[in-house]
Amino acid sequence: MIKAVLFDLDNTLVDFMRMKTISCEAAIDAMIKAGLDMEKKKAMDTLFYLYDKKGLEYQKIFQLFLRHVTGKVDYGIMACGIVAYRRVKDGLIYPYKNVIPTLNKIKKKRKIIILSNAPRIQAWLRLAAMGMHDMFEHVITFDDTKVRKPGKEPFLYALKKLKLKPEECLMVGDSLGGDILPAKKMGFKTAYAKYGFDPTMCEVSKVKADYVLEDIKDLLKILE
Ligand SMILES: [Mg+2]
Repeated sequence: MIKAVLFDLDNTLVDFMRMKTISCEAAIDAMIKAGLDMEKKKAMDTLFYLYDKKGLEYQKIFQLFLRHVTGKVDYGIMACGIVAYRRVKDGLIYPYKNVIPTLNKIKKKRKIIILSNAPRIQAWLRLAAMGMHDMFEHVITFDDTKVRKPGKEPFLYALKKLKLKPEECLMVGDSLGGDILPAKKMGFKTAYAKYGFDPTMCEVSKVKADYVLEDIKDLLKILE
């Protein structure tokens, strides 16, 4: 019997990559307008290459980007990029379709928690932006254990908070390598959010989740 459902946040509940892509396009447009001499597609590719290396939460990305492509940091150009990024980003933090009604139904009978690799403040800002700040029993983030999934520590910490055994919990996430594989090894039930975006690009054939979700509302059938 599943007593709790653990949700990854980014690209499982939040449509994070859509927000990131559109915000970065706005930043690149603004930097080109401010004098950055570079073609937009090449600039976007370079920016995401750097995000791949540093992680999508890296806070000094535009500084790094300008140093990488021009050899120095022009603060005027960088500031234009940051301002455009922030203006656009705040309006773009949305959950995927069906997330809120599905979670409301699940939480009537089961505990629901967040298990995210994001820093605590970033996770809470995204939850608040989506009107979901009071929905979860616990919000577990990178700051709680200082270890990121696929490390075991966040999962063990969640079990301790929930006072449950792994087999009583369902882990829902978009990352086969980060969410599904470690949870499965530890004895959790697992549901792969196929509609999301897996930045680790783990091969689907190598990790088999117990359930595959085309839409988050598929969880309601699984938890019937
Ligand atoms: Mg994710």
